[in-house]
Amino acid sequence: MQYFSTRGDDSRLSSAEAILKGLAPDGGLFVPEQLPQVDADFIAGLAPLTYEKRAARVLGLFLTDYTADELMGCVERAYGSGKFDTAKRAPVVTLKDASVLELWHGPTSAFKDMALQLLPQLMQTALTKTGVTDTVLILVATSGDTGKAALAGFCDVPQIKIMVFYPDGGVSRIQRLQMCTQAGENVNVTAVRGNFDDAQSGVKEIFSDAAFNGELQAAQVRLSSANSINWGRLVPQIVYYFSAYADLVTAGTIKAGEEINFTVPTGNFGDILAGFYAKEMGLPVHKLICASNANNVLTDFLRTGVYDRNRAFYKTITPSMDILISSNLERLLYHLTGDTAQVAGWMGELAATGRYDVGEALLGKIQQTFWADWADDAKTQATIKDVYDANHYVCDTHTAVAYAVARSYQQATGDTHHMVIASTASPYKFNGSVLAALGAETSGLDEFQLLDKLAEYNPQPVPAGLAALAHLDVRHQGVCEKSGMRAAVLNFARK
Ligand SMILES: *Cc1c(COP(=O)(O)O)cnc(C)c1O
Repeated sequence: MQYFSTRGDDSRLSSAEAILKGLAPDGGLFVPEQLPQVDADFIAGLAPLTYEKRAARVLGLFLTDYTADELMGCVERAYGSGKFDTAKRAPVVTLKDASVLELWHGPTSAFKDMALQLLPQLMQTALTKTGVTDTVLILVATSGDTGKAALAGFCDVPQIKIMVFYPDGGVSRIQRLQMCTQAGENVNVTAVRGNFDDAQSGVKEIFSDAAFNGELQAAQVRLSSANSINWGRLVPQIVYYFSAYADLVTAGTIKAGEEINFTVPTGNFGDILAGFYAKEMGLPVHKLICASNANNVLTDFLRTGVYDRNRAFYKTITPSMDILISSNLERLLYHLTGDTAQVAGWMGELAATGRYDVGEALLGKIQQTFWADWADDAKTQATIKDVYDANHYVCDTHTAVAYAVARSYQQATGDTHHMVIASTASPYKFNGSVLAALGAETSGLDEFQLLDKLAEYNPQPVPAGLAALAHLDVRHQGVCEKSGMRAAVLNFARK
């Protein structure tokens, strides 16, 4: 299977090459030339397998240049060996009115682990396969969660180093501790004096600075990124849609072949796009419901066909969905039109004016699969309380946005297909907002006391990785100005 750019560049790459490159030379995203098709036997065959074996089967359909042994090695290192706190890796919990697909049992208690545990393994194998001998230096700017998940994934992966910049004073205490206590010989975490935009624009400038990249090249180091447009981050996410389906059939919640719905709390459109791939491959999915917070640019797009980022930006209690440009949408537009020139045109308009309109015909096609709505903070918190009262189940704020939207979908359409909610963070990661929603008394409690407080409500214990933070040594204390980021990178690259 070959990969090419959504914007028309005609090079054709193997998956290993696409994963090493990340972004296509014309600024487009890599897409597979066709989507593999599976039948009922393939899906039934997943049921008795471990998550790792399910992953190897699904990945094998896309990453055809990796051998079966290479893939099995990658998934074992990513998901095996005690990194996840449950044997199922991504378990499905069925509540009164829906099932919840828990994607946060990995080492950092965030859904990003599902992809960021595997991407480094796919990358390192790709380096070996393509004969690249340089060291790859992954640069990340983070406003919190992605940084830790990337550190955990790349920690001690041979031939790769990772450096994370975060805004000094701009992340929560737990998030800072999660990053600054990170073990590993190949990791660096540095605070930047400034806000997230300073850190992010600093990293972007470094990526596009040819002279600086030349200096790194002299030290046999090349830069790369771990962000969610990389094919190696998207493809791992297709697996859990299949895995959830197989588990629901095994549990008797649905019959083999029965169509189900997924509601996905959406930011960059990666998670839900993976669900689209699963559906196109033959997984019995009826609708994919896109849930947004007050930054509801996707709700408007999926209802009107007009994508318009010229709007106010809101800070919400679901920070991982506070996003106005959903990069992975570009892949959907390509798959539904097959027209790279058209996609390049829309993306050009987005860059120039912040807006594009895909027109009635394509909108109709999109709406055959997608439905969208959004929930504000008040509704999100009411939903946390409601789900808790009805099921004694504690969900995080992002999951609650999806839950609220799933209900509004069912009310609006009367659709009774079984509903699966993608749950993207442990409630312990957003303990303050969750406790407030539950009506708990929290005044005067620090972040670790909040964890214990939430455990009084939650039958699931505090994740070991979060509880341990109170006692781990801080290993990374570096701070720099934005103007000092290049020097910090060079220094770490030469180590
Ligand atoms: C990243 C993230 C999302 C959004 O996922 P996308 O793939 O960017 O749409 C939702 N919830 C949480 C907790 C996340 O970390």
